[in-house]
Amino acid sequence: IVRYNDVHKSFGDVEVLKGINLDIMPAEKVAVIGPSGSGKTTIIRMLMTLEQPTSGTIIVDGKNLWHMEKNGELVPANEKHLRQVRGDIGMVFQHFNLFPHMTILENCMTAPINVQKEDKASAKKRSIEMLEKVGLGEKLDNYPSQLSGGQKQRVAMARALVMRPKIMLFDEVTSALDPELVGEVLEVIRDIAKEGEMAMVLVTHEMDFARDIADRVLFLDNGVIAEQGPPQQVLENSTNERLRSFLHRFR
Ligand code: ATP
Repeated sequence: IVRYNDVHKSFGDVEVLKGINLDIMPAEKVAVIGPSGSGKTTIIRMLMTLEQPTSGTIIVDGKNLWHMEKNGELVPANEKHLRQVRGDIGMVFQHFNLFPHMTILENCMTAPINVQKEDKASAKKRSIEMLEKVGLGEKLDNYPSQLSGGQKQRVAMARALVMRPKIMLFDEVTSALDPELVGEVLEVIRDIAKEGEMAMVLVTHEMDFARDIADRVLFLDNGVIAEQGPPQQVLENSTNERLRSFLHRFR
């Protein structure tokens, strides 16, 4: 469902991604780990079309995100095309990015109504179902400021899920939370993962969690995928010295 082909990305003189080749299958759960600054966030921001590669191609659900002009320059695909791609993808960030002036129900309903042109009654019904699923059925009329960090993050998930994405991206979604709130958020992600049908890419520092839910773990180091494979192989049996010393910090 996703293919990166020799993707490079530079910010100014600094090459952050140095040739990423990556295929993600439908329904596959991929955890991305690696040191700070290794390019993890950049990889997933590119899927969401928030960053443009310096070279290489990225194909999402059969649609190429960038067009190569005749002069060799990469330009964004047209607006309609990008809207389709963004509609296939749901993203949850480290900071929840909820709309503060809307109730949590309105936060969930707004994109289906305004982007997907769903009728209001149906968007409302589905939003309530999704908020119940993440354990917030009692809070529909609360505003984000009235919720804990863990609850806010669960709203952010419901809001992404209500768009019925084919791919969900999670960027260090527990890093900004107090430790006692991490568990409830991981639990919701586990439930979503178990349902199975969506592909998921998770940037995470929660190694036990990655081991539990990922089909494949990628270790990103210095802009390249330095190691990848099933969780047990990458997290327990790798001979890659950089990976071993990285993992050691989590022991
Ligand atoms: P972390 O775990 O700290 O979030 P990361 O692996 O997700 O790190 P990225 O956020 O992808 O790393 O960033 C990779 C490198 O690219 C970093 O050195 C960062 O400073 C740089 N970078 C990212 N975005 C930009 C930008 N818009 N402009 C300039 N440099 C950037």
